[in-house]
Amino acid sequence: MALERTLAIIKPDAVERGLTGPIVQILEEAGFTIVTLKKVCLTKAQAQSFYDVHRERPFFDSLTSYISSGPSVALVLERDGAIEELRQLMGATDPAQAAPGTIRARWGESIERNAIHGSDGPETAPVEVAFFFSDLERMGRLG
Ligand code: UDP
Ligand code: MG
Repeated sequence: MALERTLAIIKPDAVERGLTGPIVQILEEAGFTIVTLKKVCLTKAQAQSFYDVHRERPFFDSLTSYISSGPSVALVLERDGAIEELRQLMGATDPAQAAPGTIRARWGESIERNAIHGSDGPETAPVEVAFFFSDLERMGRLG
C-alpha cells in the first residue's frame, strides 16, 4: 500500500456531543498520523461548494444546512492506504447499515447526522484537502 493523505471531517453532530476527542483517539490508534487539523464553521455557501457533487440529490439542502449548523473539525490524515482505511473505519453512510465497531455504527445518529466524513477516492482526496487547508498548513509532499 502506498502512503496517502485523506480528508476527514468530524461533523457538527459529533462535535456538539463532545466526540472530537474519542474520534481522534480512534484515528490515531488506527495508525493515522494527523498532518494538520482545525475547527471550522462552514457557511451554507461553503457547504454547498464542498458537497457540489450532490447538488441534484434530494438531501442536498438538508445536508448543507446541517453541515453549516455549527462547528466541525477538519483533519488531514496520513498512512498507508489512508483513503480506503478511513472509509473502512467510518463504516457505511447509513449508521444502521454500518459494521459493528465502526465510527458511524457507534456514534452516527442518522443517515444525515453520521458523525464523520472521509474522502471517497484518490481523485477527490487532494481536492478536499485543498478545500480546507493552504499549502503552508498541509506540510510535506503529499496532497
Ligand atoms: N446523506 C444524506 N442522505 C442520504 C445520503 C447521504 O443525508 O440519503 C448525507 C450524509 O451526511 C452523507 C453525505 O450526505 O455522509 C454525503 O453522502 P455520500 O453518499 O457521499 O456518503 P459518504 O461518502 O459520506 O458515506
Ligand atoms: Mg461521499
